[in-house]
Amino acid sequence: MSTCIQALPPSPGAAAFPRVRTLYDIGGPEWTARKSEPIHGLPICKAHWQPKEERRPPKIASGSPSQRPTSRAAALEADHQRRVRSGHFTKHVNIVLDGEKFQFSATLLRDLCECPLCVDPSTKQKLFSTTDIPSSIAVRSVSHGTDAVDIQWSDDIQGLPADHITRLSTTNLRGLVEHGTTTPWHAYVPAPQKTQQAQDYAQLTDIEYDAYMTDDATLGQALKQLHTHGLLFLRNVPETETSVSAIGERIGPIKNTFYGYTWDVRSVPQAKNVAYTSQDLGFHMDLLYMHQPPHIQLLHCIRNSSSGGASLFTDSYAAAADLLATNAAAFISLAYNEVNFHYNHPSSHLYHQSRPVFEVPGRNPQAFFAKLRQSKPENVADFIEAVNWSPPFQGPFSAKPIKHRDGRRADALGPVQRKVNEWHQAAKQFSELLHRPSGIYERLMKPGECVIFDNRRVLHARKAFEPGDAGKERWLRGAYLDKDPYMSKMRVMHEAEKQILRG
Ligand SMILES: [Zn+2]
Repeated sequence: MSTCIQALPPSPGAAAFPRVRTLYDIGGPEWTARKSEPIHGLPICKAHWQPKEERRPPKIASGSPSQRPTSRAAALEADHQRRVRSGHFTKHVNIVLDGEKFQFSATLLRDLCECPLCVDPSTKQKLFSTTDIPSSIAVRSVSHGTDAVDIQWSDDIQGLPADHITRLSTTNLRGLVEHGTTTPWHAYVPAPQKTQQAQDYAQLTDIEYDAYMTDDATLGQALKQLHTHGLLFLRNVPETETSVSAIGERIGPIKNTFYGYTWDVRSVPQAKNVAYTSQDLGFHMDLLYMHQPPHIQLLHCIRNSSSGGASLFTDSYAAAADLLATNAAAFISLAYNEVNFHYNHPSSHLYHQSRPVFEVPGRNPQAFFAKLRQSKPENVADFIEAVNWSPPFQGPFSAKPIKHRDGRRADALGPVQRKVNEWHQAAKQFSELLHRPSGIYERLMKPGECVIFDNRRVLHARKAFEPGDAGKERWLRGAYLDKDPYMSKMRVMHEAEKQILRG
């Protein structure tokens, strides 16, 4: 981005640049204080730069004021209709669903075709590219059935027979009308995530290893709990070194890292990683310095010290919800200020990643704020995707310098200082909430127990133990899983459960 400024056309000058809205513009009263602050050297790519005229919002339909669309959605729809009329987009297909008429884009419906000519029945892979659909495609005939609609096309994709029919289920068409998708992924996720306190975790029942490994219903139940609570314990796990990988592989492929396919946590004096020492290990998440940190972590207790080393778990979503309820400004600060995480061993491994404490979906602060305002703080899981908290692996703060157009030295110190000062205040409050005793579930894991937890949500810590407790050293074997295999397995189990319920 730093070269972007130079790539800009020289003439428009600062005044011609749109005053881009910052998060301060759209927040509550706490955020409006800095509204009038000028924004210098705004990095805008040439690709994103448009002449001022083109940046104007689309003209909305004419007519009397009462007929004019008022909402942004209505304005966008009116603009879309105008472009359709001008031939900018392909034609519409009129379809009646339960007596109500809807206009669907011909391109959208043609793209959905799953006939054997369009989607390979065996591999389920698409046999055409969306770009193969001619812009001139139009509907030739629509025939409404009970559960499906058959469409024939004029100007169809080249090479397809004239009698090619696209059959679309009314369920899918309804899905488009109601959710904007034929595949509502949220339908695959069993139950909403709810914030958890220590007492909630203490009430959970451990799951039997044998049942988890052999019975699909038990696996489904385990995954559901992992999704809703972020934490799960298995008991009666065989005390072998391969147990943890077997438990992980029941869900999906293990994530291999430089720690190994599976890895051991034992007391090793003067180790590079603090997890291998016998000190207190504070609340953290693993491998946040990676681009894709593991989503699920498994720790199988093979041996435990008799005098300490208890494991601690806390639901960061609960602390996030309380921060949002008590200090929304701090919450937002932690959602937009990135901190650096690193694994800093230049002779062997050098990992680095910048992340905000709260990962929120999309890049549109305005949409995020709208969602935030409509939600209750306890539903925080609905609008954050992950939490990033790992003080032991935090690196030095950094921020992008603010460039000046008049050749003065860029302001590099200001941004990083403002960031650290703001972050420090907000993070202190979050840390206090994380460390409230009511949220901390403590458990001295016994041999034969395995904990599985959501590494992007549940923080784990360990109390100090005695390394000199000869023959009774603490030995946990761990493994990781990525989010994709975990989510896939959960959806598959959920689909199977729905099939059983349907009979
Ligand atoms: Zn087809």
